[in-house]
Amino acid sequence: MKIGLDFDGVLSDCGKLKSYAANKLYGLYIPPEKFKKEIVIGGGHLTAEQYHNLQKMIYGTREMGLLMEPVGGMFEAISQLLAWGHTILIVTSRGQAELEIAKEWSVKQGLALDFIGVGCSVSKATACVGLDVYIDDDLDKLEPLVGIVEHRFLFSWDYNSHLDEGTIAERIGSWVEFCKTIESL
Ligand SMILES: [Mg+2]
Repeated sequence: MKIGLDFDGVLSDCGKLKSYAANKLYGLYIPPEKFKKEIVIGGGHLTAEQYHNLQKMIYGTREMGLLMEPVGGMFEAISQLLAWGHTILIVTSRGQAELEIAKEWSVKQGLALDFIGVGCSVSKATACVGLDVYIDDDLDKLEPLVGIVEHRFLFSWDYNSHLDEGTIAERIGSWVEFCKTIESL
């Protein structure tokens, strides 16, 4: 099968990095698992401008960007999926500069993966044509894939647990669960 993966929040754990950056930039402690735009801005922890600056720093600078930690179980799962003969494509909303950092990070982690960066606020639908499976931690990114990608999965985190995925996607709690699910398709 052709499997598409989102990058931030699926391969890399950006919640931890956002939490670290909020502390460094603004002296605030915001737990990683709560670090999602609508929660942080909606809850009055950061202004929209502060959030934007933080994002620019963690996605757009190598000093911070390369500090991302991998999501637990990711390496084992990707090796397993490749060993089963599946094809993997990373489809991310990162723009060009941020994409280069993600690629550099992946190479440093020993991952040889193909990437498509569609750019911020652009639908992933065109890039995902031909994929059998796609997993993202952002429900908004999965919605346009209905009718395009047959098997859509939402990588479950505390920060998206309040959302009703309905028929848009099936929730997956971990990389181990993702592998088991792929095996059963
Ligand atoms: Mg993501």
